[in-house]
Amino acid sequence: MNSHTDAPDLAQAPILHVDIDAFFASVEILDDPSLRGLPVAVGGAGERGVIASASYVARTFGIHSAMSSIQARRRCPSLIILPGRFDRYESYSKSFHDLVRDVTPNYEPLGLDEVFCDLSSLGLLGSSPLALAHDLQARLKAELGLQSGIGVARNKLFAKLGSKAAKPKFSTGGVTEGAGVFWVSPDVEAQWLDSLPVESLWGVGPKTASKLHGLGLRLVRDLLSVDEKLLASHVGASVAQTLCGFARGDDDRSVESARASKSIGHEETFARSVTDAEELAQHIRRHASVVGRAVRESHQLCRTITVVVRFDDLSAVTRQQTVPFSLNDEEAIATIALALIDSIGISQPVRLAGVSASSFVAEGQGAVQLSFGVANNTIASQSAEVQAKRESLRDAIDDIRQRFGVASLGHGVEFADGNLRVDRQRGSHAFGPETLGTSSESQ
Ligand SMILES: [Mg+2]
Repeated sequence: MNSHTDAPDLAQAPILHVDIDAFFASVEILDDPSLRGLPVAVGGAGERGVIASASYVARTFGIHSAMSSIQARRRCPSLIILPGRFDRYESYSKSFHDLVRDVTPNYEPLGLDEVFCDLSSLGLLGSSPLALAHDLQARLKAELGLQSGIGVARNKLFAKLGSKAAKPKFSTGGVTEGAGVFWVSPDVEAQWLDSLPVESLWGVGPKTASKLHGLGLRLVRDLLSVDEKLLASHVGASVAQTLCGFARGDDDRSVESARASKSIGHEETFARSVTDAEELAQHIRRHASVVGRAVRESHQLCRTITVVVRFDDLSAVTRQQTVPFSLNDEEAIATIALALIDSIGISQPVRLAGVSASSFVAEGQGAVQLSFGVANNTIASQSAEVQAKRESLRDAIDDIRQRFGVASLGHGVEFADGNLRVDRQRGSHAFGPETLGTSSESQ
């Protein structure tokens, strides 16, 4: 498809977008080879379940991620829907990142199974981006058993479109192998800008797409002639500017390496909406622990914790707290996240919940690092430090109370006798009033 026969050099195509195929489903099959050749999906099996990942075989039935599980089962009654095992996906994701890091330290993870790489700093080594992409792809296959699509381009916009073009295509007839590595040459760029629908652009989800359609804008090329101010009045100034830039093929977003990434988060759409406060708290703790691990893995500390909750009517509430100390500990993240959740005063079923961390500083910077784990009961002996931690965390919770005006906020953490203890007991934590160990905590 590339009409340019000359391979690009690093100055022409410095950006790679690497996207693992059917990531969750592939990990499940790698862990249980008896699933090989069967239609396998990972997702919620319940009535409101959504498919998160579908194997190649499942895709030949027309099953894809974001499809409802009910629809997927209709298309393929023998579909095996497995619940997610995020520990395994994270472990594979870490190995994936390790291989990417062998190519360049300048990479930006997007979720668990995608990264952008900026190869421009490798220029002096005289490497070819296509050769680097093929080598990485071969190692992903040989060492991890994972298939990938890699887009090679001059910017993020085209690299992401390129990885999609590199992937296999699925139909009821079977699988048509993709190129694996796809270089978006200037000819291909021009062809795509002329023919692709607006939905193919970064950040254009169903909502933005329908606004654009309402303005008669269906193809990327339609954006070339639109008045940016008019567009801005419908989608906001920054989106309008970005989209108009995209229509010209311009994308000046840089690859932000993990160290500089703006937020690290984890969220889940539940198979069945959650109505039980304790169950929701467990999900929040799990998200907090994934986020805590990811923050530590990135060698950073965070200061802002955000929670998002989406309800059955699709309305959503986001709450955020920035604390005056730096943290990377899942228990501290969970404590703050649970206080934020509590402050929402949830009274209807929850369809999605998530936790994210932001406002990063590099490890070694920042004031008090909260680090207390369940195994760390020796913390009581370090009284001055514990005192600082107690106060920092207590202040953070008080802040949340004040800002959101919560009447009966419980704590995920109990303070007693100078001991900071994480309370994992069912029924005695963050979703209702509880008896606290010290009077300073009662409110
Ligand atoms: Mg993928």
